[in-house]
Amino acid sequence: MDERIKKRNELLAQTVIKGLESRNMSGYYAGSAKEALDKALALIPEGSTVTMGGCMSAAEIGLTDALKDGNYDFIDRDKETDKRAAMLKAYDADVYIASCNAMTSDGILVNIDGNSNRVSAIAQGPKKVVFIVGMNKVCSDVDSAMKRARNVAAPINVQRFDLNTPCAKTGTCMDCKSPDTICCQFLITRFSRHKDRIHVIMVNENLGF
Ligand code: SF4
Repeated sequence: MDERIKKRNELLAQTVIKGLESRNMSGYYAGSAKEALDKALALIPEGSTVTMGGCMSAAEIGLTDALKDGNYDFIDRDKETDKRAAMLKAYDADVYIASCNAMTSDGILVNIDGNSNRVSAIAQGPKKVVFIVGMNKVCSDVDSAMKRARNVAAPINVQRFDLNTPCAKTGTCMDCKSPDTICCQFLITRFSRHKDRIHVIMVNENLGF
């Protein structure tokens, strides 16, 4: 990576961390995927019950495999035959792993969801939520974060799940009410009432969508 891009990401991450702290959340900067993995594992005590939605960013830094292989009670929803039971178990987990669809430079997290199990677990339930966020997802304000979520993240995610939505054909949001829409719920996390619940690891990589 170009040193100037790296420097800019480091500076921007410090701005985001200050914003997170002002919102009763904790932020960290990782210069590489390996650093991000080490930081995430330091936040997850061995023996914890851990789960996640379909988090590409966690997989990309090696966290999903580390949790599956390590000394954790990992709830792997892909292996559970009763998906509803797996989703309900997530609310009582010690740690929930997530990314966001976008976040602002002053520390607001934006997520959209179809089934809404992910946004509901982020909002309440698990004792700790650890976000893995590539610097590619940092936007200047809520408006641009929402635009990123709907015009970048969503059209890629519908491809991932082979859904029949207008954005799957146009590559941009058409504000649909399709039965397959993944834009059922929008969660804007602007403050955490519970200190030490939300931790955000920003990674100097392009991660997820
Ligand atoms: S509202 Fe519909 S068209 Fe827009 S991003 Fe969501 S699924 Fe795609």
